[in-house]
Order: sequence, then C-alpha cells, then structure tokens
Amino acid sequence: MVKQKPPVEKNETIELTFEDITHEGDGVGKVNGYPLFVPFALPGEKAKVKVIKVKKNFGFGKLLHIDEVSPERVEPPCDVYVQCGGCQLQHMSYNMQLEMKQNQVKNTLRKIGHIEDIPVHPTIGMEDPWRYRNKVQIPVGYRHGELITGFYRKRSHEIIEGMDRCVITAEINDRMVEAVRRMADRLGITAYDERSYRGVLRHIMVRTGQATEETMIVIVTRTEELPHQEEFVKELHETYPQIKSIVQNVNKQQTNVILGRKTKVLWGEEYIYDTIGDIKFAISAKSFYQVNPPQTKKLYDKALEYANLSGGETVIDAYCGIGTISLFLAQKAKKVYGVEIVPEAILDAKQNAKLNNIENTEFYVGEAEKIMPWWTAQGLKPDVIVVDPPRKGCDEALLEAMITMKPKRIVYVSCNPSTLARDLRILEDGGYETKQVQPVDMFPQTGHVEAVAEIHLRL
Ligand code: SAH
Repeated sequence: MVKQKPPVEKNETIELTFEDITHEGDGVGKVNGYPLFVPFALPGEKAKVKVIKVKKNFGFGKLLHIDEVSPERVEPPCDVYVQCGGCQLQHMSYNMQLEMKQNQVKNTLRKIGHIEDIPVHPTIGMEDPWRYRNKVQIPVGYRHGELITGFYRKRSHEIIEGMDRCVITAEINDRMVEAVRRMADRLGITAYDERSYRGVLRHIMVRTGQATEETMIVIVTRTEELPHQEEFVKELHETYPQIKSIVQNVNKQQTNVILGRKTKVLWGEEYIYDTIGDIKFAISAKSFYQVNPPQTKKLYDKALEYANLSGGETVIDAYCGIGTISLFLAQKAKKVYGVEIVPEAILDAKQNAKLNNIENTEFYVGEAEKIMPWWTAQGLKPDVIVVDPPRKGCDEALLEAMITMKPKRIVYVSCNPSTLARDLRILEDGGYETKQVQPVDMFPQTGHVEAVAEIHLRL
C-alpha cells in the first residue's frame, strides 16, 4: 500500500466543517478523511482553523474564526474557562452535552463491543448543572506580594490570575477558600513555593456536605507547625458557624500529590457527615467521597433497579470503595460482600455500615480479581454481582471469575465507555447478555461519561 501524506501542513490555515466531538470536548473535522482535532469547535460549525500539529493519522488545529456558529453554542459563564481546562464543555448547551454523552456510550458499545440493538437511554442530567461539586482543592501562591488561590493553567504549575470562583463548585466552598486566603494573608502565613521548597501553605481544601451543610476546612502545609494557629482557627470558626471541622494536613514531600500522610484536627470534629438517599456517611479529610451526591443517588438507584433484588439475594460489590453501593444494595439483599484494594476505604465502609445499623455487609481488603476466585473456592454463590471499576475497567481475571460464578445478573457501573464496551464483549462471549444501558451525568460541563449496564445470564 502506498503511504499517503497527510493532506494538511503545519501552520496552514484551512476552512473546516465539524462533524463530531471527542469526550475531551474537541471538535472533529475531516480533510479528505484525515481527522483534525480542534478545541472549542462544535459539530455543525464551519470555521477557519490553523493547523498546529500534523501526525500520520490525525492532526490538531486551533480555532481562528467561526464562520457558521452552532445554535448549541453558549457563552461559558467561567472567566477562566479557556486557561483552566478543568471543564471541557462549558461552550456547549447542556442539552447537547447530555445528547453527546448518550451518543458516545451508544457508539462506543457498537464500535468496541459490537453491541447493538440494545436501549442506551437518554442521559440522566441535573436540573441545575452548575455549582454541584461538594469539594474543592486549590493551590496557594503569590502575586504582587499577596497570597492568591486559583487552579493551575492547563499543563502548567502557574496559578491562573483573577480566579475568584469556580462555577461548578458549591458557592459556600468558594467563599470558604476566599475567607481562608484572606485570613492567612493578614496573619502573614506564607505560601509554599515548590521551586525553593520554602513557605507554608500548599493547598486549601474545603468539603461541604450538601444535605447537612457541614463544612470541613483542610489546610495543607509543608511544615509541621501552622503559624498563628490559635488565632487563625478561632477566627475562622467563630465567623463561619457552618464549619464543623478544621484539619491540618502535613505534606513535606516535593510532589504533585495534594495530601500528605499526616492529618491533625485543629478544631472541631474529625468527620463531617453527609447523606445520599437514606444512608449517612462520615467523611474524614482523606476519605474518598462522591463529589456529586444527588447524581450519585440517581446512578445507584438505577444500579439497584438493574440488580432487581427481592430480599433473599447474596450480592458481591467489587471495587466497593467506601461501600456506597454496598450499603444501598444491603437494604434490599440478604447479604452483601464488598471488596476494595484501599485499606482506608474499607475502614470507612465498615464504619459507615455501623453508622447506619446495617448488619448484612462484609468488607474485605484486596484485589477483587484475587479475592473473587478465592470466594468461589469457598463456595460463595452470588445471585448478583455489581462492579464499579476505575477507568481502566475490570481485570480480565475478574471477568473470568464472574463468568465462572454464574450470577443471574451483573450490574456494571462504568466511568469509561471504552473499557465498558471491551468488558461487555468478554461477558457476552462468556454467556451473558447486555439488556440496557443508562448514562448518568455525574460531572456536568466536563467530558466525563458515566453509565450503568444491566447484564443477564443467558438461559
Ligand atoms: N463504588 C465506589 C467507588 C468505586 S471507584 C464508591 O462509590 O465509593 C473504583 C474503586 O476501585 C476505587 O475505590 C479503587 O481504589 C478500587 N480498585 C482499583 N483497583 C482495584 C482492584 N484491583 N481490586 C479492588 N479494588 C480496586
């Protein structure tokens, strides 16, 4: 076959019509079949584009001027949308975001999993798709001799200038960040500088329970000591009564990881509480907790519906985290076994079970792909298995273990349609049948796509 040269050259300006969009929010347009990825372009738009990178099978471009504007284009409400990169879809109407996520799941299942002719339902969205994040972690730095906070500019460690709000973060958290920044500035607490390895304040983290309105402030420092600690803490909680916990986290490492190993409670409780549905969660500074509880509730309600429990079932929740799904399932099952690799998460899961007086769960630390075959050898026979793996999907050994265990139903919660499609193919070949898939928008304005699949053993 004769190798064809790409039909465009670097730095060339071309006119491009956009047909598609990637999950990162880049518009896709083709020149004689050769795809170019262009940030901030929408399907249906026609634009002048400067070619900035040419690879063998695809290239990248920069939007110069939109000649035909899509009716779905909206003004991003965030002032630093382009610099930040935390959101990818703010320039797209919310309806189009939901439709795009549904199509992405549908197309990926077909292309990668060869799964067609099953219902992929319209994405379940939020009524108000802004200000939904219950947690913010923001770096601290200096500008013109003043402490500043703000996210890093895309692919850099430079704090974005003039960023005083984040439109997908709960308003109260924005206000708390600003209060901490002002107080620290006034007390002369210095910002950490990663180049010189000097200064104190690295990050400010704020988490607020949406249902309880309890706030935890976490001050991440390079040093063991927080200068003016007493004054700082006293003023903070006296001014803001919703603060229930002020915690210092010490991170002495020269690393991008935000939290260090050591945490100490400076004032108030070690935990704040929040609820998802009827279940209460105790959340400490280092606990994983879903950032969008109302959507999590919708996702897990779907998972529960697909599990179709009537009370007598034995259920396995693999990749159970802090047991969020397990505790939901336990209300309708005879027994739920959860397995998770992070020991602290399992401690949280056990504690949360106790907090809710749920007695029919057992949690184990370990790799799901090793623990499940061991359970099989012990004679454990699950009626339903629920999996909620990380982006890389299920380990093949785990898929094999499920196929051997032959549960009547599998419910697959996925944050990556590609690995969902790959894994569904393996399950289909192992005697299972995908019945339906429901996308749920857990992270509006971003390209993240979450979906839950109902899978039955073929009779
Ligand atoms: N359902 C959980 C979150 C699941 S996120 C909740 O709502 O809390 C995926 C989880 O899989 C993470 O907690 C991660 O630590 C865990 N994990 C990753 N690899 C694993 C493995 N091989 N075995 C078990 N758990 C694993």
